[in-house]
Amino acid sequence: MTAPRKLVIAIDGPAGSGKSTIAARLAKKLGYTNLESGAMYRALALKAMEQPVSLEDAEALREMAENSVMQLDPSGEGNRVLLDGRDVTQRIREADVTAAASRVSAHPQVRQVLVGRQRQLGADGGVVMEGRDIGTAVFPNADVKVFLDADASVRAERRTLQNGPPSAEEAKRVQAEIAARDERDRTRKASPLAPAADAVILDTTRKSIDEVVAEVEGIVKRVAGE
Ligand code: C5P
Repeated sequence: MTAPRKLVIAIDGPAGSGKSTIAARLAKKLGYTNLESGAMYRALALKAMEQPVSLEDAEALREMAENSVMQLDPSGEGNRVLLDGRDVTQRIREADVTAAASRVSAHPQVRQVLVGRQRQLGADGGVVMEGRDIGTAVFPNADVKVFLDADASVRAERRTLQNGPPSAEEAKRVQAEIAARDERDRTRKASPLAPAADAVILDTTRKSIDEVVAEVEGIVKRVAGE
C-alpha cells in the first residue's frame, strides 16, 4: 500500500477571517505542519523597527530579509517564532509590529525573499500554510486553496475578543487598524490580497470554527480521493 500523498493546503484571507484558528485545527487533524507566513513579515518588521531601517527602504529591507534567520516552530497551538535565534512570538503580535508588517510586505523585493523561504518550507507537502498570497503566489499549484472571508465588523470583533472583552476605545482602535491593513493588503501592487481563481471562497461570518474546519476537511478529503 502506498502512503497517502502529502498535500499542500493554502489558506488565505484578510485579518480576522479565521485563518490562523482554522489552519491550526486542520493541520492538527491531518497530522500536517501548520505554517503562518505572516509571522515572517512580522518578524522582519520588528527587526526593521529595532535597527532602525525605514519601512519604506525596499532595498535595505530586502538585504535585511536575506541576512535574517526566521524560524517557525509549529509544535504548539500557533507558531513559535524565532528571529535570529530570539523568541519574538509575543512581541510580533503587538499593534506597532502588526501595522509595520503590512508596510514591509508591500515591497516586491521583500516578498521575493520571503516567498522563496515559504516555498522551501512547504516543498515536501504535508503543510497547511496560511497568509494572503499562498494560493496565488507562493503555491499557485497548491492541492487545496481556500479563501476565508467575513464581514469587517465581525472580523474586528473576533480580533478584540482574543484578549477578553474590549473597551469601546479598544474596539474602535482595532476596527480602524484592520480597515487600514486590509486596504493596504488589497491595494498593493505586489501580490495583493485576493482569492486565487481556483480557490474555494468560504464566508465565515455566521459560521462556527467547527463548521468551517469540517467544510475545509471535506474539500481536502475530496482532493485526496478518500
Ligand atoms: O497573517 P498576519 O496578520 O500575521 O500577517 C501580517 C501582515 O503580513 C499582513 O497584514 C500582510 O500585510 C502581510 N502578509 C502578506 N502575505 C502573507 C502573509 C502576511 O503580505 N502571505
